[in-house]
Amino acid sequence: MGIEEQVSAILAYGECCDSCLGRFFGKLSFGLTNRERGHALRVSHGLALNTPFREPEAICWICGGICDRFDVMAEKVAESLAGIEFSSFVIGSRIPPLVAENEEMCWGDLHLAGAEPLKTELNREVGKRVSERTGREADLRHPDLVALVDLRDDTITVQITPVFFSGSYRKLERGIPQTHWDCRSCHGAGCERCDFTGKQYQDSVEELIGRPAVAAFAAEWAVLHGCGREDIDARMLGGGRPFVMEMVGPRIRSLDLGSLEQEINRSASGRVEVTLTGWTGRDAVEIIKSERAHKKYRILVEIDGEVSPEKLEQALSSIRGATIRQRTPERVAHRRADRVRPRKVLEIGSAGKEGSAFVIEVTGESGLYIKELISGDHGRTEPSLSGLLGTEARVIALDVVQVG
Ligand SMILES: [Zn+2]
Ligand SMILES: [Zn+2]
Repeated sequence: MGIEEQVSAILAYGECCDSCLGRFFGKLSFGLTNRERGHALRVSHGLALNTPFREPEAICWICGGICDRFDVMAEKVAESLAGIEFSSFVIGSRIPPLVAENEEMCWGDLHLAGAEPLKTELNREVGKRVSERTGREADLRHPDLVALVDLRDDTITVQITPVFFSGSYRKLERGIPQTHWDCRSCHGAGCERCDFTGKQYQDSVEELIGRPAVAAFAAEWAVLHGCGREDIDARMLGGGRPFVMEMVGPRIRSLDLGSLEQEINRSASGRVEVTLTGWTGRDAVEIIKSERAHKKYRILVEIDGEVSPEKLEQALSSIRGATIRQRTPERVAHRRADRVRPRKVLEIGSAGKEGSAFVIEVTGESGLYIKELISGDHGRTEPSLSGLLGTEARVIALDVVQVG
């Protein structure tokens, strides 16, 4: 079937707008919009048949008038983007199923190989118009936001691409979890136990850094991706722990990280301290999550009975450089698979005493359970300081002093 016959067949189905007509041959000629191409086809069709030219009079049976509303849609999109900072965008769309069915029927019936779907035309045409109205560029690959035009219920949803920045944090106070925990009783709904906050702990490192950041970015929320985590009752000192912060739904995306750093350190004063190192992307989250960093701890250990410095040193020297076999600790067994993990102790040494407790510094492979290395966890960790000394030993305070 030639183009001429195909056009006749399409027009015989019913009234069809220029955009829909042109789109059936969308891949045929470059430099024309579908509407221009459709108009040209309609004119030449009339000439060939020697019939008077006429514009379509009724509503297009294929799109139901969607193609006449690109300007209106663009206006609505531009309105819903007001107040959002972005330099690039992309338009997405959902088309009523019946419309898609109409055009697909013609493709099949008439063997139209060069047709373009309505969705593609809509995204491009509305995109051009939004670009004109906002002065921002359409970018299909890395847009700052996606405006989703849903023609099924006539809504526009804006999905703002997150922004990421990196840094490191020091946790100066014990008892703060790294990330927000839902209340164990109500699972976040709010109850008497949690004072209707829905939280198990009133604050987390994530929130202490996140709250000022959410305000600065006018974001929905913030997600902290840490390079590992310290125990809730451990401080994180020294050079701090590297992290990437993901700002979800930011209506502002360019700001001065130096001022943000100051604001975080001011509002979390004495509890958490950050150094922000710069802007980054989602790739950095994967990298930081997979980082197998070594960690250095400073712990206070209480040992039952009399232990001479020589005896302690002897025990420490058999752990130094050793690979420890650790069965999943009892305290986390309910949320981790029970298995034996080999982890290396790179360095361990005594650094004197604080009161009756020994100060010990340990550098271990990522994932080494320090408390169990000392206590032995009822034989689940082997060897352990307790086992080597032949007496009970336990960690009474633990700080991370270095990560990486
Ligand atoms: Zn149409
Ligand atoms: Zn609760």
